[in-house]
Amino acid sequence: MQAWVIGNWKQNPATTKDVNTLLDTLLTTADDTVSNGCQLMVAPSCIHLANVSARLQNTAILTAAQDISALSDSSGAYTGDCSAQQIADAGATWTILGHSERRQYYQESHESLLEKLSHAFTQGLGVVYCIGETQTQYDNQQTFSALDDQLAVIKDLLIKSKEQAPELVQRLAERLIIAYEPVWAIGTGKVPTVMEVEATHQHIKETVASFDTTLPATTVLYGGSVNKDNADSFAASPMIDGALVGGASLKAESFLAIAHAF
Ligand code: PEP
Repeated sequence: MQAWVIGNWKQNPATTKDVNTLLDTLLTTADDTVSNGCQLMVAPSCIHLANVSARLQNTAILTAAQDISALSDSSGAYTGDCSAQQIADAGATWTILGHSERRQYYQESHESLLEKLSHAFTQGLGVVYCIGETQTQYDNQQTFSALDDQLAVIKDLLIKSKEQAPELVQRLAERLIIAYEPVWAIGTGKVPTVMEVEATHQHIKETVASFDTTLPATTVLYGGSVNKDNADSFAASPMIDGALVGGASLKAESFLAIAHAF
């Protein structure tokens, strides 16, 4: 299966100058990595999306948004939102959805995520859908049930699409990536064991397959404190199809070292 390494830049870098410096280094050193067969993607904040997409056009690095509006896939009176159509128009071809920081700080619900996924596929964007358990859920052995609750959005989207917009089922089949990101591992330096990640990825793949037996095998990435020192151990597992990287994606050298590992 194709490996993916995706950089979630979050609300970084703060200035266009710093974004361009990061891009300069990425662009001068990314070619080897891409020729290794690893697909690279970066997700800048919305304000930098058009610049980053333009600079990455005709390179092998894809661009993603970090979120899209739940309220409309195109335009409307939704102050502060960016729609899937606007994101695509800015040059991005993918979006991250359901990141734990969005779930935590913006109280993203099952319903709003269902809308967002539907809007993304309607506008032809691929989706990196993030799921993960909290520390408490992990401590109480509730990881799988927490993930099942979050994966129910995919199940409901399939049901809704089959009834109302069958073309979305095909888009989901072709352009859905799941990122397993334990909330307690994000930005903390703590990571689960590779065996724990493997068991979880197997559960995710089997669960998505159970929603629709015609779907191809789901690409599942691991995210949470991946860095250039621990990337090899995750990359060695056939159950781990790549990484979603936060902090370490802000330095081209560590991001590309992670990509080289996969
Ligand atoms: C993330 O926020 O998606 C993430 C994986 O962050 P970090 O790599 O910094 O833990």
